Order: sequence, then C-alpha cells, then structure tokens
Amino acid sequence: MSETRSDLFKSLSKKGIVRREALLEGLKDRGILEDDPRVRAMFKALNGGSSQEFTEAQFQILYDQAPGLLEGALTDGLVVPDFKSFVSELTDIFDEVSAIRMGKLPTYIPQLERVDPEKFAVSVCTVDGQRFSLGDCDDYFCVQSCSKPITYCLALEEQGEDVVHSYVGREPSGKTFNELTLNAKGLPHNPMINAGAIMCGALIKKGGAPSDRFDFVMEKWKTAAGGQKIGFNNAVYLSERQTADRNFALGYFMREKKAFPPDVELLDVLEFYFQCCSIETTTKSMTIIASTLANAGICPLTGVQVFQPGHVKNCLSLMLSCGMYDFSGEFAFTVGIPAKSGVSGGIMLAIPNLGGIAVWSPLLDELGNSVRGVEFCKRLVSRFKLHTFDNMLGLGDTRIDPRRKR
Ligand code: GLU
Repeated sequence: MSETRSDLFKSLSKKGIVRREALLEGLKDRGILEDDPRVRAMFKALNGGSSQEFTEAQFQILYDQAPGLLEGALTDGLVVPDFKSFVSELTDIFDEVSAIRMGKLPTYIPQLERVDPEKFAVSVCTVDGQRFSLGDCDDYFCVQSCSKPITYCLALEEQGEDVVHSYVGREPSGKTFNELTLNAKGLPHNPMINAGAIMCGALIKKGGAPSDRFDFVMEKWKTAAGGQKIGFNNAVYLSERQTADRNFALGYFMREKKAFPPDVELLDVLEFYFQCCSIETTTKSMTIIASTLANAGICPLTGVQVFQPGHVKNCLSLMLSCGMYDFSGEFAFTVGIPAKSGVSGGIMLAIPNLGGIAVWSPLLDELGNSVRGVEFCKRLVSRFKLHTFDNMLGLGDTRIDPRRKR
C-alpha cells in the first residue's frame, strides 16, 4: 500500500477497520456525495457495493477505483479545500437573499405565472465534483434561455466555429433578447438571444427527424449533467408555441434575409427552439452542467468530455458578454462570472476551473433576470474572489479565495 493510502487508512480506521459510514461522512464534509457516480463505482468494486466495513486490503481496492478522489478529498486537496466554510458562507448569503421579495412573475405564458414566487434554490458543483444545495433544489423548472449556451455548444461541436459564426455573430446586440433585429450582415447578433439560439438550433442535426434531434439534445443535457434526470415540460412547450408570434417573426425575418443554411425547415427549427426552452431541470442538475462548462467541457462526476475546450471557451466568452439580457455589461463588470439567465428565474454560472453554480428564484426584475438570483451573485463576489479579473488585485484584497486553505 502506498504511503498516502496507508496514512489515510490509519486516519480513518478504528481497530483496523474503516466503516463505510465514516468514509461517506468524511467525503460528504468535502462535498463528495453518496450518489456521486465515482463513489458508487468505488463501493461497487467490493461485494457489489453492499459492504459496510473495510479492512486495509479492501480499502486499497476502493482507493484504486477512484484515483485521486479519496486522496484529494481526505487530504483537502480538492479545488475548494475548505468546503465546509464555503458552504457556510454561501448559506449565509442564501438566508440573507431569501428575505428579498421584489420582482414579478413573467406573464407571457400562464405556466410561468403559476409558479410559486417563493421558490428559491442554489446549488454548487466544483470542477472536482464537490456539491451542495440549498432550498428548493429538487424542484423542476423549465430552463428557458439557460438552454442557449448548450444549444450553442452543440452547434459548435457539430459544425465547428467557422461555420457556426458564418451564421451567427458574437457581439452583444444592445437590444432586448427578442428584438426584431439582425446585425449589419443580416445575421443574429449572438447565440445568447432568441434569433441566435434559433439559428444555432438550425445547425444541429440538420435534416434529421425532429424526434431524433430532440432525443440527441436531451441525451447531451443528461450527459453534461453527469447522468441526472432531465425533464421536459409539455405544457410549457405548448404554451411557448401558442404565444410565439415574435419568435415566428424572427424566423421569417431571418428567412427573408437568407440567413439560414440551405434546406432548413423553418417550422421544425422554431419547434426545436420551443422544445429547448421547455427542458426542465433542478438546480442540482443544472449546477453539474455549469460545472461541465467550468471544467472545459468534461463532466466532473463522470469524466466524460461532453464539449471541446475551445468550444466551451467560446461559449463562456459569450455568456460573459451577452448572457444576462440588457444587464449583461453591468453583470460582467460587477460580478464578472460567465452566466446565462432564463425567464423562468434560473441563472447558470460557470467559474472557469472552479465550478458551476445554479440559482433559481422566479421573481424577475424589469430586465428579465431573477431578482434574488442577481442579488445572490452580487453578494457572492462581495465575499469571494470569483470575478474573472480578481487575480489582478493581489494581497490588498481581503475577500476569501475559496481555492485556498484558510
Ligand atoms: N421562451 C421565451 C422566448 O423565447 C423566453 C426565453 C428566455 O429569455 O428565457 O421568448
């Protein structure tokens, strides 16, 4: 047995035995949860996963199943070494922000107007798969525009950057997300607004059966979420479709300008866009997707490379400049974390090489962003060095860097 492995065994064992419960407790303190596929695979390697106690030889087998995980977790070598303190600070912010009751529910479809306005959830997943969640984190909500970064990444994966950006720009539009406008070349301004997302959808599995295209996208969402269940809200979809005059107008406008690639069936493309908006998730799953983005496209829980690093870099750049509706510039300046907001009150944030955060609270401000969500983000960076350019500030900056041991 290697020295670290043997030291770890000694530190955890009582009378030459490590109890499963004690091991799980130690991992949980560091954010590694029992339903983590790596933990499951580790236990499964012994007697199908039922063993409750481990000898030193058995511990060695567990250890070898998840290279780095036990050692990283139990020697505080994961990306957020003091995970307990991180959780405690985030819980404080969550409690403070829970008291805010400003904002309005969206009214453009009844399904969103009927959501309980009190709902509030925050989930975190680091690039090492350290997770924790607060509030209504098991409730499903439709992702709406939080689908746009994923649709963009999928278009990039299939067509490559040059092709995708011959159909969609990468400049903030300076206009509302569904404005009937295109750039000087007659193309959508960027993939984070409706026209751009409709265009990116047109580039995914072009010519395929609509059912196969949707299956493909759902499968990708699931893979990015480390295998967690991803849902679909049919009522939201039907409602989106029924109230979609503006999106139809955008589609026809782009068709008139010959913006689409050849042989695109406009109705299919619009339907696909409404379906993507109607995908449902919990913050628990959404944070894993966000952490896949933060981790250069590799899902931290499964190690599956879902997106190429260069495509993720493109996506995060556009989330930073265009992800928060008409608050994008202000958000990039003050919070400085690539993020995408949706009209259902979700915000998905990806902090490069640190992790993902998902926030959900349905009451929106006048720009369409979740009031509590934005406030949570602002308070987050007032305590933590998480702004993309915080590393400029040096030692004079006394805020917490969660990447360091305290
Ligand atoms: N599904 C709505 C639309 O396309 C809103 C999407 C959003 O911004 O979250 O108009």
